[in-house]
Amino acid sequence: MSLSVGIVGAGVIGRLLALKGHARGWKVTLIDRGNADGKSGCSMVPPAMLAPYCELDVTEKAVADLGVESLKLWPIILQEFNLQVYFQQMGSLVVAHPYDAGELALFKRRVLAQTTAEVFYEVTTEKLSRLEPEIDPLFQNGLFFPHEGQIDSRGLMAEMGMALEGKVDCRFGCSVDTIKPHEIRVDNDLMRFDMVLDCRGYGAAIDIKDLRAVRGEILRLYAPGIHLNRPIRLVHPRWPLYIVPRPDGHFIIGATSIEAEDNSPISVRSTLELLTAAFTLNAGFSEARILETSVGLRPAFPDNKPRIEHQSGLIRINGMYRHGYLIAPIVTDIACRLIDDGKAHPNDDFLLRRAA
Ligand SMILES: Cc1cc2nc3c(=O)[nH]c(=O)nc-3n(C[C@H](O)[C@H](O)[C@H](O)COP(=O)(O)OP(=O)(O)OC[C@H]3O[C@@H](n4cnc5c(N)ncnc54)[C@H](O)[C@@H]3O)c2cc1C
Repeated sequence: MSLSVGIVGAGVIGRLLALKGHARGWKVTLIDRGNADGKSGCSMVPPAMLAPYCELDVTEKAVADLGVESLKLWPIILQEFNLQVYFQQMGSLVVAHPYDAGELALFKRRVLAQTTAEVFYEVTTEKLSRLEPEIDPLFQNGLFFPHEGQIDSRGLMAEMGMALEGKVDCRFGCSVDTIKPHEIRVDNDLMRFDMVLDCRGYGAAIDIKDLRAVRGEILRLYAPGIHLNRPIRLVHPRWPLYIVPRPDGHFIIGATSIEAEDNSPISVRSTLELLTAAFTLNAGFSEARILETSVGLRPAFPDNKPRIEHQSGLIRINGMYRHGYLIAPIVTDIACRLIDDGKAHPNDDFLLRRAA
């Protein structure tokens, strides 16, 4: 008889697990308090840069390694599940305003402390203008990470949702009250499963005491006259900002990183800082149209590392922080192996934790 698995949370992690679980022959029930559109969690907010090396600025090598492996898996996943999603691997460019040259040097040192110089190369005026002809000529130095990429988070969430139809018992609009090994309770309805997967993101803070929220704000702009080829990061003394080009003149400008459990609308200060970053990179953004502002709460543990906490009948997958899309392929593979084989690879030990 096939394994019955109840997944709570239909963000990027819950949806990908549901797809993989169904492919493995599990009988999957996917439950979320929000609608099928996915807007109740933080997975609909990000630009979903797949930038394991640039993230070394804020994370450690073990997480970046998961990202490097996951980056190879995304095209395979898109093909396997026939997901028609914008995916690009044209690298990332990191630049600094001349006043912030010291920040660029610091960024380079942080990356180099954990990896080798082969993952990026330094670019100066001529090469910069070949890579990105439309950035302001005041930017004369940068670091180019040729292997990095991006994926359209919203397209992916929608396509995964459609791919699940008819395969998985999807229950949207159901707020789960309690999760226990083998059990999910919604109102007075108690559902029993061979295995329960808690993928509630920050919604799991009620049960996971050291989970915190890191607020992130972004803007979506329309500027059909501007052409950028790849995500560009602007190192900055307060927080790194980025501009991510999407097809048809769309851009995502992000992101703040604020220690707060506050998902109220974007602040004036953040809006000004994000718009200033865009304007500094290309003054043409002054004529861009602001299509949307959005805010998400990144689920994070004190060490900012992901965690898979397991016990018989219950696995909690959380702490995706800034890297949910970057590492989802590998994290979900590890969870699947844990369920089917009862063990993971020794290399995965750093993110596994046995529940007390
Ligand atoms: C501004 C910003 C920029 C980011 N940029 C990037 C990036 O460039 N690259 C990258 O890899 N990552 C990025 N991230 C991080 C990424 O978005 C997250 O790590 C990821 O989306 C977390 O996914 P999740 O599935 O764990 O949680 P979520 O997407 O939050 O999903 C959790 C789901 O659980 C549901 N839920 C919660 N409680 C309950 C309940 N009681 N009952 C039923 N359902 C419940 C929610 O409705 C939600 O749908 C960014 C995040 C933000 C906010």
